[in-house]
Amino acid sequence: QTHFLFLSLQAKMSRPVQAQRLEGVDKNIWVEFVKLAATYSKVNLGQGFPDFPPPDFLKEAFVRALREENHMLHQYTRGFGHPPLVKILAQYFGKLLGRHLDPMTNVMVTVGAYQALSCCFQAFVEEGNEVIIIEPFFDCYEPMVKMAGGTPVFVPLRPKAPKDGKLMSSADWQLDLAELASKFSKRTKAIVLNSPNNPLGKVFSRGELELIADLCVKHDVLCISDEVYEWLVYDGKEHIRIASLEGMWDRTVIIGSAGKTFSATGWKVGWTVGPNQLLQHLRTVHQNSVYHCATVAQEAVAQGFQRELELYGKPDSYFVQLPKMLQQKRDWLVQSLDAVGMKPIVPEGTYFLVADISEFKSDVPDVPNSDEPYDSRFAKWMVKNKGLAAIPLSAFYCESHKNNYSHFIRFCFAKEEATLKAANDILQKWKREKNSP
Ligand code: PMP
Repeated sequence: QTHFLFLSLQAKMSRPVQAQRLEGVDKNIWVEFVKLAATYSKVNLGQGFPDFPPPDFLKEAFVRALREENHMLHQYTRGFGHPPLVKILAQYFGKLLGRHLDPMTNVMVTVGAYQALSCCFQAFVEEGNEVIIIEPFFDCYEPMVKMAGGTPVFVPLRPKAPKDGKLMSSADWQLDLAELASKFSKRTKAIVLNSPNNPLGKVFSRGELELIADLCVKHDVLCISDEVYEWLVYDGKEHIRIASLEGMWDRTVIIGSAGKTFSATGWKVGWTVGPNQLLQHLRTVHQNSVYHCATVAQEAVAQGFQRELELYGKPDSYFVQLPKMLQQKRDWLVQSLDAVGMKPIVPEGTYFLVADISEFKSDVPDVPNSDEPYDSRFAKWMVKNKGLAAIPLSAFYCESHKNNYSHFIRFCFAKEEATLKAANDILQKWKREKNSP
């Protein structure tokens, strides 16, 4: 018996099992808030996904691909991207960028934009490198840089007070140029740009992009340009691709997502577009990690882009219709939040909207000296007590800046009218309860 006891003690591992690079990246806001929403929410405006279906033409393309005589669509396809998809992406982005793109070397398909980001950090960042991240940022950039051995360097967008009586706009959140310039050094390997920006919905102006581009060229820095919301731009604003600015093509990787483009986040089809001298290294990471993405989904997305190329700029194009539809939803949510005093920051793009919760603070009192930012406790309280799920803005800031931006929450408005109406009902009722003694 002693013998067995000894063996079982010996069988237990005593050395650390976790690789050091996982230290400090174990927490993930989505794991926590997705679970809270699943447990408590009646109305979920938290995580970013539409609750309406993708367009019929896309669903039909998927069904056709499944049913087709060509049963090879159920098997592996080319690892770096299904040939029909990389071909049509090369054509489409070639048109947008005004340059010839080679489908085999200038485009690579990934498991969503998430894997495209991960490939970039793994391919370009090494120990001692710094990567500049503009705050607020899509939260995965920070752990991904750290896992690659790099050091994230943060620079916040600074809010400016809106003109009297006007609602704040995402355009009021601007980079301080001197501050941004001060972050570039010999150690800087890359900057992550996300325009339109999640969570604010900011669409960077040509002037802002030119200043970032100048700094990239001056310091010989790469640009990882996360453009997953490129078609979701409102009020006639233009999405400008930084890769189209002088000196930038050779140093930029554009990242896109069929999830956002065609309202099908569960398909997890993403892509990168860029020069071969950058993409060849992404292919090295890709072939040694995921190797291959789902064939049928790629085939359907290829057909979706084929249709969009034929209808380019026409009223029937999904890329024309989707932003129109979302702009109405945005306006509706802006009005609904404004009416209850949860001041919205009107987004110029994306399907997110950040709102100021200051007027609701009396319902969710602050806990002095708590480690958790106020907005995080507020969002948890709101989902548990009101059934409405949203995401705290502080989740999109680095640890040391979180408490500077802790009275905002982010809503996703890519939702059916009934969902938005149900959210409005919750807010209205809450407001009435607040006002009654
Ligand atoms: N980048 C940004 C800015 C995002 O908001 C998201 C999704 N929320 C992604 C990348 C990941 O996209 P995908 O679902 O295609 O992996």
